[in-house]
Amino acid sequence: MAVALEHVIEEPKENEFIWKLKNKALIKLDKERSRLNYHISRLEELTRDGNPSEVTGEGIRRSSILIKKQAKRIQSMSKFEDIVKEDITRNAEAAIAICDYHFGSNSKKQETKFSIAEFLKSFYGEKLPFETPLALISRLARGVDHVFLDEYSRRTHDMKTLSKNIYLKETFLKAEQDILPISNDIRETIAEFLFIPKEEFPILFYLDPTNSKESEFHSDYKISSIDPNKIYFFKKNGEERLFLGSYYIEVSHETGHGAHHKISEKSLENLEGLIPLENTYNYVHTGKAEGNARLIEDFSNVVIFDKNRKQFKLSRNDIETMKSISEYDIVRKIWPTYFDVLSIMAKTDPRINPHKKFADMTGIRSFELDTTLLEQRSFFITLYDFSTIAGVYQNRRIIKKLNEKYGRKTVDKNINLILNGMLIGYWMLPTGYRFFMEEYLPRAERFFK
Ligand SMILES: [Zn+2]
Repeated sequence: MAVALEHVIEEPKENEFIWKLKNKALIKLDKERSRLNYHISRLEELTRDGNPSEVTGEGIRRSSILIKKQAKRIQSMSKFEDIVKEDITRNAEAAIAICDYHFGSNSKKQETKFSIAEFLKSFYGEKLPFETPLALISRLARGVDHVFLDEYSRRTHDMKTLSKNIYLKETFLKAEQDILPISNDIRETIAEFLFIPKEEFPILFYLDPTNSKESEFHSDYKISSIDPNKIYFFKKNGEERLFLGSYYIEVSHETGHGAHHKISEKSLENLEGLIPLENTYNYVHTGKAEGNARLIEDFSNVVIFDKNRKQFKLSRNDIETMKSISEYDIVRKIWPTYFDVLSIMAKTDPRINPHKKFADMTGIRSFELDTTLLEQRSFFITLYDFSTIAGVYQNRRIIKKLNEKYGRKTVDKNINLILNGMLIGYWMLPTGYRFFMEEYLPRAERFFK
């Protein structure tokens, strides 16, 4: 006799969560936006090596303006297509903002000054989705939790990362032997959790010996380098040991990038602009990409590692330290980013004294801070950090909103279905929010347990 299922839930059909453009003009425009992103990523490269020429900037500006005009002309569409159109327009506006930063608001009208407030608005949208980007960073800078910082210091006080110590080559090699096989277990567990067939989701992990300062996921090759500087070691009985949890955090973060890419490919049929390749990926994608990788990182700490502590050889205390390390990695970006924003403001508004304003807002005097924290940074590091912060806090607000709407229990029970939707597409932040709330959620909630 067949066993009666307690709840019979309609299974999502194969094409239930697939989106496709029908409007030919929009498909063409989406391809043009991809080309625009290719040029922005070239500009990004050029600015790393020196000063790009104004010709590059003018080219980007011209095609962005053209894309905006063309978008305006496209009419009568579904809600999904309307969101895509808005996304393309915002993408073009962000490109113009980048040109404004590099080459002045308009090279013919040099007197127009660069304003960071305007930049943030055109780059991230007016609302994020609940407040302006400027309001977000000021609020976060004011609200950094000093108790949390103390807690992080206490937990990691006796730990060192590879770069900070003269750890031996043997330690590095041994770490590689010990931990690389575990990466696959983590990848498979996350894949299963997100309903991705694990065989469709290969990622080759390796420890990057080149001191690159960032772990990276390469979507074209499905490989991920793990930055050894992010891995913590401690000494026990005179022996160097690896804090496994810190390595797991990196692997789950990079697996998050991989899952974002994979789920986007699976769910968006003919939208190349929303699934960037290595050569079209650039700053406009950072908010969504980093926000989503962090989402998986945070959930892995709770759902994957905490629930499988034995399998991953972690204690309850290790889990708390992992959460602390993860959180610190985002919190540490807040003050320098806020200070950068103040410094850029001061360039056009002499009434602003960035050090004083920073001290007033955060309650700490800058000389009390780690001096490397407020050093002059390149605008693109600021942009990268700002985008990461914006993406992370946008996702947190979305989860909070869902908790209010459905109740925490329902959200917890359906978190994998929810995360799946948040991992679709490399949207600009405001349109990513729209897509999730207006398109994905109404379809997904029918399958909520
Ligand atoms: Zn990342």
